[in-house]
Amino acid sequence: MTILWSIAVANMRLQAPASRWKIVTLMHELSVCQGMLGQVSNIAREHGAESVSRITVRIGPLSGVEPRLLKEAFTIARMGSVAAEAELLIEELSVRVHCSQCGADSNVTSNRLVCANCGDWQTQLVSGDELLLASVELNNPTHEEPLSPGLQSESR
Ligand SMILES: [Zn+2]
Repeated sequence: MTILWSIAVANMRLQAPASRWKIVTLMHELSVCQGMLGQVSNIAREHGAESVSRITVRIGPLSGVEPRLLKEAFTIARMGSVAAEAELLIEELSVRVHCSQCGADSNVTSNRLVCANCGDWQTQLVSGDELLLASVELNNPTHEEPLSPGLQSESR
């Protein structure tokens, strides 16, 4: 019995710093969500919508936002907002660079921004650091029109 008790304590001690770290990390995603919900509620108000059913965002690997944490933060941030019942769809973008040596555009990994064609390091980021509100689906809007605000997040 003594052994079992000491295992439980050891587990608790291990969990404490991990969960604190997670809360700090989630703060960033929460502030991203709050900014996004501000934009979404403006869009809903402009179109006379009662509520929002779906929000689609596009996230690049270099945006500093983790999709999994953003979804988690969204379930908290949406409470009491126009998007309280909304679903969050996340489209993950790839990292793409333009090579100033050979002129090719290629998809690369986020930790190695090297031209896939010639291997040169002198590349410019074409995409991969985006954090975009791609679309918003509204319930009972007063007039129908396609929505594609494509707004850059203000967090950067
Ligand atoms: Zn190249």
